[in-house]
Amino acid sequence: MNQDLLLKNLRNIPDFPIPGIQFKDVTSLFKNPACLQELDNALYEMYKDCGITKVVGIESRGFVMGAALAVRLGAGFVPIRKPGKLPAETISESYSKEYGTDTIEIHKDAIEEGDVVLIHDDLLATGGTMLAAYNLVKKLNPEKVMINFIIELDGLGGRAIFPEETDVKTLLVVEVDE
Ligand code: AMP
Repeated sequence: MNQDLLLKNLRNIPDFPIPGIQFKDVTSLFKNPACLQELDNALYEMYKDCGITKVVGIESRGFVMGAALAVRLGAGFVPIRKPGKLPAETISESYSKEYGTDTIEIHKDAIEEGDVVLIHDDLLATGGTMLAAYNLVKKLNPEKVMINFIIELDGLGGRAIFPEETDVKTLLVVEVDE
């Protein structure tokens, strides 16, 4: 993987959405064709032999590469969304994040017991969002759940929030204050 290309094109927005947050703007990678190809290929190489049957993407930045990866893997794609957005019966989970608190939902029939699931989001900060997604998916009793992020913020200890045996992979590690 060409990490230099991705790191060079990852835009940092200081003090967004509140003072003190260094916001890693993954849309600066999505808009660049070479970076988009690089992300797509890197994720496919990482997960092509894992038997994944469903990729779950977290609203909204997790939809972009999550859906692309599902197509490459021949898997299904499942959205996790904010409350009131999904039309059929849902289950939900609340959590706290780096700035504020939130709730997420998934369709009750989105995951089946034999599914091997990869949950994908753009960025790991404290891990609260992904832990809520992980707990949500686990309630639907899949065979296995793996976790992926494009970017891991080093220095917030987000990785430690997941059960020890959890498969957590990231493409890029970036210092939280950079
Ligand atoms: P957390 O639950 O703390 O791991 O926060 C992760 C979620 O919030 C992801 O969906 C990110 O898109 C967003 N997020 C949190 N902190 C940042 C940051 N510094 N830069 C970009 N996105 C962030």
